[in-house]
Amino acid sequence: MTMRVGVPRGLLYHEYAPAIHTFLESCGAETVVSPQTNREILEKGLALCVDDACLPVKAFFGHAAVLSDQVDALFVARFVSVERGAYICPKFMGLPDMIRARLQNAPPIIDMCVDIRQGLGSYVSSLPCSDTCKILGVAPRRLSWAVGAALMAQRKEDRRRVKRFAPSGSAVARTGLGGYTRESIYETSLTIGVLGHAYNLDDAYLSLGLISKLEKMGVKAVTAEDYAYDNLRRWERRGADRKQVFWTAGRKLIGAARRWRETGEVDGMVHLTSFGCGPESFVAEVIARDAARHPAMPLIILNVDEHSGEAGMATRLEAFVDTVRMGKSKR
Ligand code: SF4
Repeated sequence: MTMRVGVPRGLLYHEYAPAIHTFLESCGAETVVSPQTNREILEKGLALCVDDACLPVKAFFGHAAVLSDQVDALFVARFVSVERGAYICPKFMGLPDMIRARLQNAPPIIDMCVDIRQGLGSYVSSLPCSDTCKILGVAPRRLSWAVGAALMAQRKEDRRRVKRFAPSGSAVARTGLGGYTRESIYETSLTIGVLGHAYNLDDAYLSLGLISKLEKMGVKAVTAEDYAYDNLRRWERRGADRKQVFWTAGRKLIGAARRWRETGEVDGMVHLTSFGCGPESFVAEVIARDAARHPAMPLIILNVDEHSGEAGMATRLEAFVDTVRMGKSKR
């Protein structure tokens, strides 16, 4: 019988879904993804998770909980690092252990470690890998092949996504880092750069519908996910006056903010942060300080937790968009 593996629709699933699906299906498993976040899922997460955790981690607990009695195993990757010299937020390293500790009667947890510093060869001969093989019922050789297939699927999706949003004929792509032009690659009159983790922005419930609210106001919203990571990394490095940040997600957001500010390809920036997020408390400060040096680029920071309400978010967003529109009409 085919093994059913549950994948919580939370955190890095939003970025690595193609790799996760390809990996599990290449190992012969059926993938069962939890539904979109809703009140019930969040309530389950709030009941299981410690109060101090950030909103997306609490929601992740809820997603794991709704799957736990429907599947033969849960897939909760242990993300450590996806690029040399940078790390993922430490919450991801402990995620499988936190889920194991708090979720009673949880099925076996596939806690595959994703750490760029550890080559595939040494991973395949490690103890966690043999546990993964045991749960999935596959030989290390097949698992190694499945990892290769997963990486290829992810690269293909990353290329497709970037192409969709920033066609190579666009002004910015043509001019690269030097000599950028104000010639717009977007059609709408107001474009807002939305900063935030993909697992918040892609989740309409956790982000209180931020992107759709902007679109309803006639605003084109772009995010850091619309650009190739290498491009954002080059922009991030341009701030030579300070040390580089250690978090891949932080590098992406700082790079996007710097690119938008210097090219002027957006009219303003909205930064969605999670209350209690350690890395964001630093990254948001770097972005805000950069923005303060360029007052022509308005920035608003919206901090969300489980108590945030849509009405408050809508009011602040409308006021911000009106201010940006007024500023633009005077230019
Ligand atoms: S980066 Fe922040 S929001 Fe994301 S998991 Fe870590 S603490 Fe939570």
